[in-house]
Amino acid sequence: MNRYNIIKNKNPREIVLLKGAPCKWGICSFCDYIDDNEKDIDICNNINLQVLSNITGITGQLEVINSGSVFELPSITFNKIYEIVEEKNINKIYFESHWLYRENLKKIHNIYNIPVIFKLGLETFDENFRNNILKKGIVFDTPTQISKYFQSICLLIGIEGQTKDMIKNDIDILLNNFPLGCINIFNENSTNIKRDIDLINWFKKEFAFLYNLKNIEILDHNTDFGVG
Ligand code: SF4
Repeated sequence: MNRYNIIKNKNPREIVLLKGAPCKWGICSFCDYIDDNEKDIDICNNINLQVLSNITGITGQLEVINSGSVFELPSITFNKIYEIVEEKNINKIYFESHWLYRENLKKIHNIYNIPVIFKLGLETFDENFRNNILKKGIVFDTPTQISKYFQSICLLIGIEGQTKDMIKNDIDILLNNFPLGCINIFNENSTNIKRDIDLINWFKKEFAFLYNLKNIEILDHNTDFGVG
């Protein structure tokens, strides 16, 4: 498994995939990357410190992901990230978090004196599909409630049961309410969730313009950032 890369296309940044404690939510129906979670803190720290040693600060930006939320990283790892940000003159950092930690995000904003971008794996704005099919556990009334906490939204495209209207609505809300977005094309994994290839082909034609937008990243495979 590759855990360090430099993203060179849109929004260049170094990215690390770290190991954290089990995802506190942990029941999303399409997710098998929690298999990378680890209860043994020493194992997490040993791997993470080695991975973090690759960071050079070359792009000035760093993204940290961990198959869960940043709050599930051991404190030794979390403190090391902060040290590296200072040492390597990182001027922007990205973390992921589940919605359930939203009130804790400000603690991280308070620690860092650089912009911190929080990414939310929302997957879709469609309430029924998100919570009843994908089991995301994210309940809100308006996109503004989310943008108060999260600056980047991850959407999942191409799952059986998803519709063109849902996707059109998702892209519309993303583009009109959030500065950054990441669109993941669904690939089948060890879960029972199935891919809808016709819907994916339609999306790629219908929304071809998204590939040219600087603030929208589209991943055909979840290893396209070079980690995983
Ligand atoms: S919150 Fe993220 S890591 Fe946790 S189960 Fe859901 S998709 Fe997987």
